[in-house]
This record gives sequence, C-alpha cells and structure tokens, in this order.
Amino acid sequence: MVILVTGGAGFLGSHLCERLLNQGHEVLCLDNFFTGRRKNVAHLADNPNFELIRHDVVDPFKFEVDRIYNLACPASPIHYQYNPIKTIKTSVMGAINCLGLAKRVGARILQASTSEVYGDPEVHPQPESYRGNVNPIGLRACYDEGKRCAETLFFDYHRENKVDIRVVRIFNTYGPRMLPDDGRVVSNFIVQALKGEDLTIYGDGSQTRSFCYMDDLLEAMIRTMEQDDIVGPINIGNPNEFTIRELAETVLEKVQSSSKLVESPLPSDDPTQRKPDISLAQKVLQWEPEIQLDQGLGKTIPYFKELLGV
Ligand code: NAD
Ligand code: UDP
Repeated sequence: MVILVTGGAGFLGSHLCERLLNQGHEVLCLDNFFTGRRKNVAHLADNPNFELIRHDVVDPFKFEVDRIYNLACPASPIHYQYNPIKTIKTSVMGAINCLGLAKRVGARILQASTSEVYGDPEVHPQPESYRGNVNPIGLRACYDEGKRCAETLFFDYHRENKVDIRVVRIFNTYGPRMLPDDGRVVSNFIVQALKGEDLTIYGDGSQTRSFCYMDDLLEAMIRTMEQDDIVGPINIGNPNEFTIRELAETVLEKVQSSSKLVESPLPSDDPTQRKPDISLAQKVLQWEPEIQLDQGLGKTIPYFKELLGV
C-alpha cells in the first residue's frame, strides 16, 4: 500500500514510517519539522519506497494513498503551548485536510488522539466511554480541545461521508528519538540524571501517569488501522501507573546518578491521575503491552547517553 504519515519525522512518526517500510509499504512522510527532525528519518532516505515531504498540514495537500496516519501535532506541553493558536489550527485544520483527502481518494485514515481528551479525569482508570473533564479555556486547552475537535471531525466525516476512520487515544509514550529538550517527563528526567543535574519534579510528585514504550504503542496503532471490527476510539497505553516521584527515583537508580530531586511549581491544569483502561484494545486487537517501565527505560537511556555523549 501507499501510506501517508503526517508528523512522520517526529518521535512516534519516524518509528511508524520505519515499521511500515519494513512491512513492504510505500511511505510518504509529511512534516513541517516543528518538533520533528530530518535526522529521525535520515536512515530511511535511501529506501526507494520512502519519500520525505516538507509541508504543513494546515495547508491542503493531495496524494494518491491507501492509508493515512495523522500524527502531525506537537505533543509536549512546552511545545504545544509555545504557539497555542497554531497548535489548535494544526489539530483542527490538519484533521479537515487529512479527512478531505481520505474522502477523495477512499483511503482509510487513523487519528493519533490522546488521553488528554479526558482532561483531569474524575473516573479512574479511564475507559473510552468516559467523556472527560477538560478546562476549555486553560493553558492545555489548545491541545486537549484541538484533539477533541479532531475526534468530532473524524466521526462526522465517518457518519456523513462514510470515510473509513480509526481513532486511537494514546497515553504517555516514551522511547528513543524523543528530543533531549522535548520537555516531557521521561526525557527530562533521563537527560537531567545523565547530566548530573537536579530532577525537576513539578508539584509534590504525587500525580500519576502510566508509561508505554513506543514499540508496544506502534504495534497497537498498526493493528487498529488494519482490523475491520471497530472504528474506535481505542485507548492505547500501558496501565502500569506510577507517581512522578516514583518515576524520578526509578530513573536515578537506572542511570546510577546522584542527582537530587527538586520540586518546582505544578503547571496549571496538570492532571492528577492517568491510567488507561485497555480492555477494549485487549479484546479487539488481541494486544497488551509487553515492555514494562524498567525494560523500556533500559532501551531509552542508552539512546540519550549516545546523543549527549556522556
Ligand atoms: P512529536 O512532537 O515528536 O511529533 C509530532 C510531529 O508532528 C513532529 O514531527 C512535528 O514536526 C510534526 N508537526 C507538528 N505540527 C505540524 C504541522 N502543522 N504540519 C506538519 N507537521 C507537523 O510527538 P510524538 O510524541 O511523536 O506524537 C505524535 C502524535 O501522537 C501527536 O499527534 C501526538 O498528539 C500524539 N500523542 C502522542 C503521545 C505520546 O505520549 N508520545 C500521547 C498522546 C498522543
Ligand atoms: N513533569 C515533571 N517534571 C518534568 C516534566 C514533567 O514533574 O520535568 C510532570 C508533569 O507536571 C506531569 C507529568 O510529569 O504531571 C507528565 O508530564 P508530561 O509533560 O510528560 O506529559 P502530560 O502532562 O502531558 O501527561
């Protein structure tokens, strides 16, 4: 098949392009390089089935494709809050442009949605049926509401135009090719520990997240695209839940670092807890994550070591 991956030069997108090429597909990787890097896909450049296209999803585009994975959108709070209006345009106009293309060429299209659609959840763990608790006017809203609106668009194109959609809600995922200045917690803690700097715990570190290693995530994403039973949304993540302080302590131990933990102010609307209910993914995809935090950190730390030259 010919497959378009928007945001294909980013952390998850670049691994996805690689997997799809390995499966024998032709891959068009479209990216504006806001948080993605050419070097993430440089090793694919010589593959005759790979094409890198510099383009912004906010502006229309046309390709003959069989599948579209829509990943274009900065995912780290620091980056998506840098230009919040651009972030919401990317989610909403990007979705409209991708869905318009899917409708025209009859492609199946998958949206990389997020656990952020649940906001600061009052139901724990979060099943797909939970409608969320998002502050529509807060600092995270450009991302959360942009992704919620994108889901709405996906389902309206599906109902109105019979577009063949899939929607996955991704929970915190980490791994090699995250930027060292990405700002998300796993990369921040690893980089700080490797540099011997203090680990910055926002708030008292009692908030929780559930961390999924990227290989597990990508397996479930591709399975979602290729199954015919449901359109979604499907939660994808690892239900093993940790406090942020526990994560910091685990990173220190794995890196064997003597860095200290320091508290700094909690950003506004920071969710207090997050854990996916993955029973739907287990049933429909016959999938569950195989790589637990300790092992995933063991695969991620060497990448940052090499990158930082430490
Ligand atoms: P990332 O920031 O590494 O990747 C996003 C990619 O999109 C980058 O390559 C960036 O340059 C590109 N991009 C941004 N705006 C664009 C635009 N207007 N036009 C074209 N390209 C644009 O982040 P990631 O972690 O790889 O996330 C990929 C997708 O998965 C995102 O849509 C994100 O919202 C979603 N997601 C990720 C996580 C996670 O934990 N990693 C969790 C939930 C959802
Ligand atoms: N966090 C932290 N220190 C950091 C970066 C993040 O304590 O250096 C916290 C952040 O406040 C949040 C959690 O870690 O409670 C996860 O943050 P991240 O930005 O990785 O993802 P999200 O908040 O979008 O789940």
